[in-house]
Amino acid sequence: MEGDCYLVKVDLVHVLKQTNYQRDRLDFYIRIVDDPQRNLRLDKQLCRFCFYGGNQTVAKNYYEDCQFCNQRFCNNLQLICKSCAKEKRLCVRCCCDIELKDRRKL
Ligand SMILES: [Zn+2]
Ligand SMILES: [Zn+2]
Repeated sequence: MEGDCYLVKVDLVHVLKQTNYQRDRLDFYIRIVDDPQRNLRLDKQLCRFCFYGGNQTVAKNYYEDCQFCNQRFCNNLQLICKSCAKEKRLCVRCCCDIELKDRRKL
C-alpha cells in the first residue's frame, strides 16, 4: 500500500456514518443560507460563518487592541473592537463585510 491510501470498507456502518456526517454539513449550510438567528448574530457583530461556525480562517488578534482606534479589548478572538466593527459594518472576528456585500472602501 502506498502513502496514506487505505481501504474504506463500505458496509452499513460506513453508509450510516457518512450519511450523518453529510446531513450535518447540509444542516450547517442551510443555517448559513437561512440565517435563523440573524438578530442575535448582528448583535454580536459576526458574519454568518463566524456566528454559525465553520470559519476555518479565523485570525487572532494577539495584541488585543483595535487596529482602528487602538482601544484594548479582552476578547482575543476578534480583530477589531465592536464599535469600529459596527461603524464599518464588518465582522469583528474575520473582518469581512457583515452582510457579505461588495464595497469600494473600508
Ligand atoms: Zn476600534
Ligand atoms: Zn466573520
